[in-house]
Formats: sequence, structure tokens, C-alpha cells
Amino acid sequence: MALRVEHDIFVVRQRGREVAAAVGLEHQDQIRLATALSEVARDLLHAAGGADVTFAVDLDGQGPLRLRVDLAPVRPLPNGRYEPHSGAVARLVDMLGVVDREGDTVVRMSRRVPASAQALTPERVAELRAELGSSAPGSALDELASQNEQLIAALDEVRSQRDELAVLNEELQETNHGVMALYNQLTEELEETNRGVVALYAELDEKSVQLRSASESKSRFLANVSHELRAPVTAVIGLSRLLADSASDPLTEEQVQQVGLIRSSATDLLGLVNELLDLAKAESGRLEPNWAEVDLRAVFGQLRGTLRALSKTDVELVVEDPPPPGTLRSDEVLLAQVLRNLLHNGLKFTERGEVRLRAEIRDERWWLSVADTGAGIAPEQHDRIFEEFYQVPGSTRIGGTGLGLPYARRVVRLLGGTLELASEPGRGSTFTVTLPIGGG
Ligand code: ADP
Repeated sequence: MALRVEHDIFVVRQRGREVAAAVGLEHQDQIRLATALSEVARDLLHAAGGADVTFAVDLDGQGPLRLRVDLAPVRPLPNGRYEPHSGAVARLVDMLGVVDREGDTVVRMSRRVPASAQALTPERVAELRAELGSSAPGSALDELASQNEQLIAALDEVRSQRDELAVLNEELQETNHGVMALYNQLTEELEETNRGVVALYAELDEKSVQLRSASESKSRFLANVSHELRAPVTAVIGLSRLLADSASDPLTEEQVQQVGLIRSSATDLLGLVNELLDLAKAESGRLEPNWAEVDLRAVFGQLRGTLRALSKTDVELVVEDPPPPGTLRSDEVLLAQVLRNLLHNGLKFTERGEVRLRAEIRDERWWLSVADTGAGIAPEQHDRIFEEFYQVPGSTRIGGTGLGLPYARRVVRLLGGTLELASEPGRGSTFTVTLPIGGG
């Protein structure tokens, strides 16, 4: 096409749009290319007095198909350069610039044809060329009318896009508000929880300090009271013994009975006081084992002798001989005290059958068990009987203080061992002390 006069600009623009449509550019791209073309055409008409315009597609070229428009100026461009009048023109196409075409300087622009467009073949191109050649170009007014239409459509689109953008912005802002509110709420909740946890910890610390001091006070009180009680109770026992002594003035039969009662009550009281004192000592950590090589045979022999006095007619006390080597590192007095306590309990709570003390070595430890054929202990009581002053309901009539087992367990732990119970109601009970052979 020849671009020589003002009117040609409209024709070039119109043809440009037609060609763009024919090769398959999208509607928007057709307008972009036509607009760019009319701008460049106007520039070249003024700068170079016109140009020859060629539309081309490179069918055997590499890469995506492009519609190329070359405008060869009729006079050389000033300084051989071309600068579009409007800077926005270059953005309308993929490429716009001055190129060298077989020695001539031409202004070239190109736009990519979308892959979705109908495939172009040489035949199709010839067909399009014929079609375009036969159609008469419209008048400037036609082109102006179509340009206006395009402008209105473009404006509409811009407005609808702006509206959409505004809606999107609003939504985004709302979402942001929501997220911020949620974040603030979460932060607040977290802070509150943190404050709660901190306060709870502080309270816990305080409570544990209070508890420790209460427990220390209790041990101190028990130790002091029992210590203070021991002397007068011992005195009562001594005096009652003196009263009943044959060397003293004779007593009436009733008086003998009463003095006997005083003595036995005082003896019970002394037992309780002593147990309290022992427990207080063990609790306060003032009980220091006297570590030495202990001969279990000797300890067992002693227990056999002292406890025989307590055995009942229907209950046999069996103290087995410990297997060799029969020794361990421990505190003889404390160990004997624990075993005596367990055997005593066994004899107390067994009506018929036997109470058996047996020693075994297993896993490098001594297992000393006291098994009886008594009433047994219900599972839910297994832990409780190791609590201070606890006695299984119903067993209180047999007497006792409820201090023996908690004390025994403390002592065994002090000796580096454990004290456990296995029992079923009606099947007797077995208390087992395990101790390391080499000491705790
Ligand atoms: P005490 O014997 O002075 O009551 P203990 O602490 O030695 O205190 O025992 C606590 C309780 O455990 C006893 O009162 C009794 O109810 C129960 N108990 C202990 N040993 C036995 C046993 N061998 N058989 C059945 N019950 C037992």
C-alpha cells in the first residue's frame, strides 16, 4: 500500500485491522495493531513524506507466527532514526523499530499471532490477499465511525475493569480487616493464656513451698512431741512395775489388775510414740543408715527367736534359711526392724495357716518376702496401706497405729531397695523387700 496523503492514514489503519483479523489476531490485538499503524503512518507522512506499507507473515520461520508490517519511507528518515511521536505506541505491539531490509531502512512492527488462530498455509494467504485486494477501502468517515466504536468499547472495558478492581480492592480490604481482627484476637488470647500459665506456675511454686514447709513442720512437731512424751511414758511404765513389784507393799487384787492395765496401756503408748519418732526421723532425712556387711542368717535367726513368742496356735511361723552367701551390705538394725514389722503384721492378720519369711537372690538383688495365709488385702487398698495412719476398715480392732508400713517403705528406700505388696482377698498377702547385694 502507498501512504502519500492524509487520507491514506485511514486506509492504512483500516487495512491493518482487516489483515490482523484475517491472520487470526484477537479483537483487542487487531485494534492495537491498527492504532499503532495509524500513529506510525502519521509520523512517517510528516517526517518522510510517506511510505510504502507491506503486510507479511513468515510461514516457514522458526518459533511462533507473527504478523509483520514494514513501512519503507519514501525519503530517508532524518538521521536514519525513527522515534514515535507518542511513547505509548511501542507498547501496543510486540516490536517496533527501525530495521535494515536489503539495504533499505524501514520501520517495522510485529505482533504475535495466537496459537489458537486458524493455521495459515500459502494457499490461505493467497486467498486472503485476493479477498483484501478485491474489497474497496472505506471512506475516512467509515473508519472514523469504526474507530469511535472501538474507542467506546475500549472505554467501556476500562470502566468495567476499574469497577471490578474496585470491588476486588474492597473485598481485599475487608479480608484484611478480618485477618487483622482474627490476628489481634488470637494474640490477645495467647497473651491471656500466657498470663494465666505464668500465674498458675507462680501459684504452684508458692503452694509447693508451703507444702514443703508444712511437711517439715509436721515432722518437727511429731519428733518433738514424741520425744517429750517418751520420758513420762517410760516413767509411768517404770512406776507401775515398781508398784506391782513383790518387794513393794502388797496390793489388793483389784489394784494389781488396775496397775497391770496402766502398765499395758503405757507400753502401747510407748510403742506408738516410738513409731512416731522413727517415722518423723525417716521423713526429716535424719535417719542415717549404718552401712556394714550384714549376715542374713543371723538376722533371720534372731527374728525366729523373738517372734516365736507372738505366734498363735493355728499359725506357724516359718523362717527359711537364706541361701549362700547369705550376706549383703546394709544396715542390720533397720533391716531387722522392717522384717520384724512385716512378720508381726503377718502374724497379726492371719488366723490360721502360716507366715513365712524367705530369702532369694534374683537379678543381683536379694528378694526377702514375708508371705502369710491371712485374709488378704483388696487391690484398691494396696497403695493406701502405705499411707500414714491408714488401716484397712475392719482391721482396726486388731490394734496398731497405721504407721508400720509407711515407715518400712521409707526405710527400705533409704537402704536402696523397694517394698511391694502382692495380695488378693482370701488368698493371703506377700510383702516383698528387694535390696541390692552391694548396698544402696
Ligand atoms: P498397723 O499394722 O499398725 O495397723 P501398718 O502400717 O503396719 O499399721 O499396716 C496398715 C494396715 O495394713 C493394717 O492396719 C492392715 O489393715 C493392713 N495390713 C498390713 N499388713 C497386713 C497383712 N499381712 N494382711 C492383711 N492386712 C494387712
